Amino acid sequence: MRGWWQAAADLVLGVCCPLCGAPGLHPCRTCVAAVAPDPVVMDVGDVPVAVAGVHRGLRREALLAWKVGGAASLDPVIAHHLASAVVCLIGDVSSVTLVPVPSTRRSRRERGRELVTDLAASTARTLAGVGVDAQVRPVLRLRRQTRDQHALSRGDRALNVAGSMAAAAVPTGPVVVVDDVLTTGATLLEAVRALSASGAFPILGAAAVVMAQPGSTPVASHPGDGLRSG
Ligand SMILES: [Zn+2]
Repeated sequence: MRGWWQAAADLVLGVCCPLCGAPGLHPCRTCVAAVAPDPVVMDVGDVPVAVAGVHRGLRREALLAWKVGGAASLDPVIAHHLASAVVCLIGDVSSVTLVPVPSTRRSRRERGRELVTDLAASTARTLAGVGVDAQVRPVLRLRRQTRDQHALSRGDRALNVAGSMAAAAVPTGPVVVVDDVLTTGATLLEAVRALSASGAFPILGAAAVVMAQPGSTPVASHPGDGLRSG
């Protein structure tokens, strides 16, 4: 609930915590502490994929405020999540190349920026702080614009993205594909396929901020699907 002082702070500062409305320039300490990452690694197809948590609760609020609401003040929180997933995936590897999943034209128009590429850059800075040398190489391109996926079945999502990506250059490994949301895994698998076809090696796997809950309502947004992605 927002009190008069929060509204007053908004007027003076023009900003507040995007999760609880508390006044301030950034997400508040209480929310940041409550939305801490909880990374896990799983196999999607034959690709190891790490996620920083399930898309629910305050983490869901944070992801949506960042992705759909344009709350750029959450960039460090989301990057912290993705960095934790990357570290969970790579183990003791100390140098990686992050390859972001490409955005569709629709996503760039709606978000006003290359959301996942910007996220990868923030994540690389976070990783540097824990001794991981991470380079960002946005080499993947869409060969065709994919359909909005959020109303598609699992099988149709795979068909929608199959063969949709190509690598404009060959990143030097070890490579980690990064994205914001893991839904069925179709997008991340397509990204790994395209990088493998380009000769990128080794590809350690993929990392995403959150994993959608099975059966959850998709969120219209992002490249081509709802709560899209990987
Ligand atoms: Zn807060």
